[in-house]
Amino acid sequence: MDISAAALLDAAPDPLIVVDRRGHVTKANQRAHALFPTLQNGLPFSFALRNPDVLDALADVLNGAAPRETTWEERRPIERAFAVYVAPLGGQTAAALLHFSDLSEARRIEAMRVDFIANASHELRTPLASVLGFIETLQGPAKDDAVARARFLGIMQGQAQRMARLIDDLLSLSRVELREHQTPSDPLDLVALTQQITDGLKPLATERGVTIAVEWPQTPIVVRGDRDELLRAIENLVENAIKYGASGGRVQIALTESGTDAIVAVKDFGPGIAPEHLPRLTERFYRVDIADSRDKGGTGLGLALVKHIAAHHRGRLQIESQLGEGATFRLVLPRDAQNG
Ligand code: ADP
Repeated sequence: MDISAAALLDAAPDPLIVVDRRGHVTKANQRAHALFPTLQNGLPFSFALRNPDVLDALADVLNGAAPRETTWEERRPIERAFAVYVAPLGGQTAAALLHFSDLSEARRIEAMRVDFIANASHELRTPLASVLGFIETLQGPAKDDAVARARFLGIMQGQAQRMARLIDDLLSLSRVELREHQTPSDPLDLVALTQQITDGLKPLATERGVTIAVEWPQTPIVVRGDRDELLRAIENLVENAIKYGASGGRVQIALTESGTDAIVAVKDFGPGIAPEHLPRLTERFYRVDIADSRDKGGTGLGLALVKHIAAHHRGRLQIESQLGEGATFRLVLPRDAQNG
């Protein structure tokens, strides 16, 4: 095979630089030039990057050391971090290859993970502290107070149910995430599914003084889907519309097809959502009003779950809202071409 070194370097997904024994650049791929605008063949590599850790590793390798790994971090002009791998290149004269791999994404994911654990622990600790407090009261001061006992048990039940819901949502999220790369394959009729969901949510709607109107076509709308997941996703959207949009008095659900898409639109006429919240609504634990969400039995995980379920089905969640004008949540899924 006769492939030039330059073509090989350019085909690699990361910045790569070859340096001769004097520390001068002899080859660099396009990604390296993009990362170091001042990099030039024939000039010392140190002109392009003045980081002592990287330059020390390079000097060691050029002096015969084994491959070295170090990191290069920068705060300005933007915050970024790279793992730098410096390897000797076999040959008669010493030379080295520098490989840069971007750590920003890995660090962002790590920060999200830490954040998520902190949030989940906090969400569980609050109701748990309340249950423990009431147990203590029931063991001590309220020991023989039958009225207080009945009231406290009711509160404890509510808090325990909140913890159960939270754990349930956390487990559902991790199950969907685990399966995100296997697209569901069972044909499923969205019309029948939505009918089942609205029947199930009628009691909640009545309790909140909300009427549900559903528009659907005469024929089934078929997608390839995981029944439990889609049930959960649509149910979450309708439940949110009933809970948060109750002041509007009605919720409209429309099932439509458009090109290759099957669309479930859930519209309410409640207070709506201010624009600054819209991009963050699907973040885990993000809530416009934490107290209001807790009051309504929310965990802050519902829309995160809907977004993941949509992604699992190669679909998406669209949110439209204006303050004072209600909100529309659209679950857009690819139609099943064979059955549709
Ligand atoms: P929660 O468990 O708090 O309901 P979700 O992830 O389902 O969590 O929703 C996140 C937040 O988005 C809610 O706390 C609420 O502030 C807002 N929200 C969701 N649906 C609506 C809606 N239909 N109208 C107004 N706000 C909504």
